[in-house]
Amino acid sequence: MNRQKLYDVSVSIRPKMPTWPGDPGFERSIVHAIAEGASSDVSTLRMGSHTGTHVDAPAHFLPGGATVDQLALDVLVGPTTVFELSVENEITGADLEPLNLEECERALFKTRNSRLWERDEFTTDFVYFTSEAARLLVEKGVRLVGIDYLSVAEYKHGTDVHRIFLQHGVVIVEGLDLSKIEAGAYQVMCLPLKVLGAEGAPARVLLAKS
Ligand SMILES: [Zn+2]
Repeated sequence: MNRQKLYDVSVSIRPKMPTWPGDPGFERSIVHAIAEGASSDVSTLRMGSHTGTHVDAPAHFLPGGATVDQLALDVLVGPTTVFELSVENEITGADLEPLNLEECERALFKTRNSRLWERDEFTTDFVYFTSEAARLLVEKGVRLVGIDYLSVAEYKHGTDVHRIFLQHGVVIVEGLDLSKIEAGAYQVMCLPLKVLGAEGAPARVLLAKS
């Protein structure tokens, strides 16, 4: 049997990790402990819905928009291309034009951001899409777009780029760790937690290469 090689491109959720300023950090506390006589270990998890690798649903920026449990599953799973861009800060339309995006339903972007996951602290200095780049991805028919840090948009100027994607039904995956991934064709499996009514949720994201 031809086994697929699987790559986990999700970041590990941990107490010290970069999280968006103002969002809750991650906490795990033990509520039942075998060490204290309970029959099993059980813990409480507490975190923001946009912690680590996660999906943004339309409701994140659009009142009344679809929530994460309503996303089309056939967008979240299927063929994808990982593009590597060596831009300093912005991904512009001109950066995307040379890429073969026509037949690309799902596009994941590896940038220098992937190295930022080695830090414990959030940094505002990350690579993001300009509005023009977001519009171009929509025009090309991309239905899922992924980036390797906590926002598709510039720090403190997030609204336009998120809205361009979300208004056109593009699923946004943020917080990927693509540091060990080579550019190329893969299958992606992006599985956000099925939280009813949530505007986003942490996701386990795998890439497969046959
Ligand atoms: Zn988000």
